[in-house]
Amino acid sequence: MNLKVDESMVHGSKALLQQLPSIDRIMQWPAAQALVAAHGHTLVAGEARALVAARREAARAGTLAATALQPEALAADLRQRCGQRLAPRLKPVLNLTGTVIHTNLGRSVLADEALAHILRTMAGTNNLEFDLDSGGRGDRDTLVEDLLCEITGAEAATVVNNNAGAVLLTIAALAHGREAIVSRGELVEIGGAFRMPDVMASAGARMVEVGTTNRTHPADYQQAFNERTALVMKVHTSNYAVQGFTSSVDEAVLAPLCRARGVPLATDLGSGSLIDLAAYGLPREPLPQEMLRAGCDVVTFSGDKLLGGPQAGLIVGSKAAVGRIRKYPMKRALRMSKLPLAALEATLMLYLQPERLVRDLPTLRHLTRSQAQILVMAEALKPVLARALAPRFEVGCVALSSQIGSGSLPVDRLPSAGLAIGLPGSGDKGGPAKGVGTALDELARALRGLPLPVVGRIAHDRLLLDLRCLDDAEPLAAQLPALREALGMGPLNT
Ligand SMILES: *Cc1c(COP(=O)(O)O)cnc(C)c1O
Repeated sequence: MNLKVDESMVHGSKALLQQLPSIDRIMQWPAAQALVAAHGHTLVAGEARALVAARREAARAGTLAATALQPEALAADLRQRCGQRLAPRLKPVLNLTGTVIHTNLGRSVLADEALAHILRTMAGTNNLEFDLDSGGRGDRDTLVEDLLCEITGAEAATVVNNNAGAVLLTIAALAHGREAIVSRGELVEIGGAFRMPDVMASAGARMVEVGTTNRTHPADYQQAFNERTALVMKVHTSNYAVQGFTSSVDEAVLAPLCRARGVPLATDLGSGSLIDLAAYGLPREPLPQEMLRAGCDVVTFSGDKLLGGPQAGLIVGSKAAVGRIRKYPMKRALRMSKLPLAALEATLMLYLQPERLVRDLPTLRHLTRSQAQILVMAEALKPVLARALAPRFEVGCVALSSQIGSGSLPVDRLPSAGLAIGLPGSGDKGGPAKGVGTALDELARALRGLPLPVVGRIAHDRLLLDLRCLDDAEPLAAQLPALREALGMGPLNT
């Protein structure tokens, strides 16, 4: 659009404005009536008003083109405005960042079983809190309690909205108004201002710190015990690693000390995998079942990290401790909603069929894909992408390192593969090509702007697309003409 304003154009625009149809007129056009039939009068009339106001504004600014007042142009604009108004803000995104459990991209991808169970149970009424045997009131927790007990070996289980809530509730229910002991090496901040000292305070417990940042010993805990002690809290330091001269006290060592004092021991695992990841060639994470065997009274972990399910906070443990947690009033405020509860039930069912996990649980499927498998996909995609981005960009296959994400196993990397996009010749010794940063930012923005946004990462003057989480290359390939257009590169020659 020509933004240069000259006097004749301003006067011309004012004259044009007289031709701007009224909102009532526009609403009578067949094109508007078709929109009304689909969306109702309120939304379409609102957009018609906004459209007319925008045209007026353009006229005042002297930037209104005569063609913009043609009924066809106005109708097309109205249709587009209605479409945009109704386009969801939350949309699917292709996660090619290389971080499998990406908190900003929705964490774990739900299994088909979980999605199907949500659809099946949420389209109508269901037995969320209704006991079909007795015909009386039921408890939503019982829908998954047996499954959680079977899988982890716990006596009892309950679930809340997320693991932060599970930790808060556990501390409040067991130690409100009294003391909770925690090691200085485990005063974790897990992001989003969730810091253990603040959580303790919010839960109304007096935090008693023991040990030092790098070393805590059994005697440190023993010296802190007194008649006000209500809880010993262990926190899995999932999002960082302290290396070197370190020691911490394992749950198995701590449990007998706590038991002798009649003090419950709780451990927050954060991610908490329900299966031994080492069996799949992945770095090991502590399992809730091990923590229970070690003598913990309560174990808390997330539903949407390594477990691969919906957002949820899972609490497993002894009948006595879980019973107190379940009855604590805060539980009602943190209770799980029916949608994730359905997803959680179906996800846990997959754990009853462990052979299916690597195939049907996306989180585990993505984590266990080998570099060789991912490279095959990268090699197939490379020529397609190279052609779509030529001649402005060059595309190559590269070895990459994925990470698990969500604070799990922060130092471990998974050998992966993908595509590296750079400027032609930028691999030469002459250093980075001029303008490479701007060009890659523009490319990254165009990828994010696709109907199915694609999110990669920029490193060392290249845009990297890690294909570990790409189950199917087709949705990416199908968008390449749109990508080319977004970059103003003109259509592909076929
Ligand atoms: C992630 C994490 C939490 C919080 O879990 P959410 O399900 O995200 O609320 C708590 N503790 C630790 C150690 C974590 O890693």
